[in-house]
Amino acid sequence: MAKILYHGDFRVHNPAPYYHPENPYRLDVAMYSLTSHGLLEEATLVEPSKADVLSVYASVHDPGYLRGILREPPPGEVLWVDPDTYISHGTVRALQRLAGSVVDAVNLLTSGEKLVVILGRPPGHHAGVGGRALGAPTLGFCLVNTVAALAQRLIEAGGRSVRVAVLDIDLHHGNGTQEIFYERGDVLHVDIHQDSRTIYPGTGFPWQVGRGPGRGTKININVPVDARDDIMLHALSEAVSFISSWSPDYVLVSAGFDAYRGDNDMGLIEAGSKYYHEAGSALRRLGVPVAVFLEGGYGAGLERGLPALLYGLLGKSDPIRDDVKESHKHVWNEYNRLLSMLKEELARSG
Ligand SMILES: [Zn+2]
Repeated sequence: MAKILYHGDFRVHNPAPYYHPENPYRLDVAMYSLTSHGLLEEATLVEPSKADVLSVYASVHDPGYLRGILREPPPGEVLWVDPDTYISHGTVRALQRLAGSVVDAVNLLTSGEKLVVILGRPPGHHAGVGGRALGAPTLGFCLVNTVAALAQRLIEAGGRSVRVAVLDIDLHHGNGTQEIFYERGDVLHVDIHQDSRTIYPGTGFPWQVGRGPGRGTKININVPVDARDDIMLHALSEAVSFISSWSPDYVLVSAGFDAYRGDNDMGLIEAGSKYYHEAGSALRRLGVPVAVFLEGGYGAGLERGLPALLYGLLGKSDPIRDDVKESHKHVWNEYNRLLSMLKEELARSG
């Protein structure tokens, strides 16, 4: 049975007394959504263990950077790493529990578990080798890159012949993940995100396809502003066909739900439940073990996108069934232009 890793320690990374969209209530919404849609009968809720942050994350981050973020303020105070990203009293405990989740997820996946979901925070895909990645202005709420650490540990556990694909469906580009694996050919990173020219962190262009042995394994599918379900579903089928033809041993999902319509005011993409459900179903059809990690998603995406994705992964029907909305023709034209640019670059990389 699928495993959902969750622990109350993920709630102690807390911006109070400040308001911040990345706060513990996100997990309350997510857990309520899983409960109310009957997902805790479909999967087993497991408390992850605790592990040393340096020993798990130093394989993908600079140890000096990690030591810097492991210094937390006294209770009631918040330390701002940058204008977007905070460390609170309790952050270290949350990070230790994330580190334990990485260890546990790898143990589960390498012993035959087909689906592991880590419902933890803070999110991670913007965290690069030394913090801010690829010239991004901030860490974008992220401190450690959990999906990258998972990929790295799976590769080490498999004696380095293992191939790991990352599918990032967050609204924003996973610049940290791209930076960490940019010159590596054993990690395929396919990232569907709002047009890099129009949104934070301003990275993830179609021509960024990896370097050296990594060339051709970094794939940025840009979707223009005002893209709706039809374009998102097209982008998804492209993403899944890249993953399928690469034949990975594992697929990791950087599962952000901030492209869900009405989730937040950060972007201008409108995906409904069908997109998330189809993402889950398509990955299930690959027949490869999958681990899901929560990245962004602040409201409606957690309420509706999360259960849709998980029901897809479990091979069951979409419990949400939003209407499928169509994009305007000029948005399609721009999407096709960006997609051709990507395919031309990939063709050049052989
Ligand atoms: Zn995001």
